[in-house]
Amino acid sequence: MDAAEFRRRGREMVDYVADYLENIEQRPVYPDLEPGYLRPLIPAEAPLEPETFEDIMRDVERVIMPGVTHWQSPYFYAYFPAASSFPAMLADMLSGAIGCIGFSWAASPACTELETVMMDWLGRMLQLPECFIAETHGHGGGVIQGTASEATLMALLAARCKAIRRVQASSPETPEAEIFSKLVAYTSEQAHSSVERAALIGGVMMRKVPTDNSYAVRGDMLKKMLEEDKSAGLIPFYFCATLGTTPSCAFDRLTELGPICNEENVWMHVDAAYAGSAFICPEFRPLLNGIEFANSFNFNPHKWLLVNFDCSAIPDAAAITTIVFCSSSVLQHWQIPLGRRFRSLKMWFVFRMYGLNGLQSHIRKQVALAKEFESLVRADKRFEICAEVIMGLVCFRLKGSNERNQNLLKKIAKSREIHLVPCQLSGRFVLRFAVCARTTESRHIQQAWRHITHTFMNSCCFLCTADKNFPKNVAQDNHHSTVSQWNQNEVMLLHMVLLFLYCFSFPHNR
Ligand code: PLP
Repeated sequence: MDAAEFRRRGREMVDYVADYLENIEQRPVYPDLEPGYLRPLIPAEAPLEPETFEDIMRDVERVIMPGVTHWQSPYFYAYFPAASSFPAMLADMLSGAIGCIGFSWAASPACTELETVMMDWLGRMLQLPECFIAETHGHGGGVIQGTASEATLMALLAARCKAIRRVQASSPETPEAEIFSKLVAYTSEQAHSSVERAALIGGVMMRKVPTDNSYAVRGDMLKKMLEEDKSAGLIPFYFCATLGTTPSCAFDRLTELGPICNEENVWMHVDAAYAGSAFICPEFRPLLNGIEFANSFNFNPHKWLLVNFDCSAIPDAAAITTIVFCSSSVLQHWQIPLGRRFRSLKMWFVFRMYGLNGLQSHIRKQVALAKEFESLVRADKRFEICAEVIMGLVCFRLKGSNERNQNLLKKIAKSREIHLVPCQLSGRFVLRFAVCARTTESRHIQQAWRHITHTFMNSCCFLCTADKNFPKNVAQDNHHSTVSQWNQNEVMLLHMVLLFLYCFSFPHNR
């Protein structure tokens, strides 16, 4: 492909992408396939001779698209969002064209310097303490990682190094292996699995701290475990707090936990992978209070700040990189891999083309949509809300057994109209509804709720099984929306009354 063809194909690709995103609602959000579907559809070996762009694009529709889970569909409510915006896509295209591998300043000065400035912009958007801002002190400052998992691991490695040095400073005769065997890391029982994985990779014990009834870790819970472990001769060294837990978006209480960690020489890392983006809104910023006690902090603009994957920010990385790699100023030591992508370009494009106001509006709109969904659930007596709705995630379930909820989710998944995933809260099977796609509007939320209630009614109410066309045929909605306001017992009672009237009136009518 030469530059002339690239121009032509590039335009075609932009059209394809714009069409894909504009019409994404027409595609089932979740693929209807079995594992192993793809291999039989393409040759076993790479072609010997070049193929055409047209052939490849035909196969994108034939082979790839049927196997895509459409994360950018407004009917995608699973996991947490994977941010996506046109400015970020364009910046990524430019990054691909520049094609640099920024492992040192000289390897691409703009790649290095823009990253530092973008992390300062981000730090200021979040109103972080000045020590997080590189411009102010010439040190501090953040770096971009690929994922929150990498950031958590790097923080744990830094904490481990620091703890070993500290113990060796006071008892130099203690062998490193002995210190290692006594190190204990802590995190919430609600923390993401990547935290436990970091401890596995770091070769240290990890204990799960129980949470209160809002699924948050409180100071006294951590304190109790630290005391127990210290009296057993162990060395607590790392605590990973979560702001916005994966199951229910709960917030560990940093203002209680931070002073305890500082007092006990326990490194506090704050994982705000999803919720961190919301702290650019003054109304959510208080949830970050206590960050001044943290040794490290990370969140994913690639989740909720309209910057496409991958882009995970550590707003003050100096603490981590200095300890893990004994240097923060050398760029080779800003992350685990050597090569660095030019990720800051997409932040720069997005921050400039949305502005802080635009980014705040995006967060606020998605939170408002989650609240709208919450109101729909609360208005229906058959369902219950399972955790406080603070941001864009609603945890809900049918009242009653886990089995009822598992069956409901199975039927929702089978329909492929919307995509949800479950979680466990206090041993209960709960459905998570996360507002994800940038293009989600109120009408999608309303339709998703209609779909959920109809799916439930279709599985429990013979009056409803006649409508095989739902939810495509939403025009025939009246019966369902009326019935869906009632609980199952009321519907059963109505059926019995109708049967009774029918049996007793029929002979007289003859
Ligand atoms: N931490 C939390 C709280 C998360 O919710 C997630 C993913 O959803 C992660 C960490 C992992 O993120 P990543 O894929 O960037 O490693």
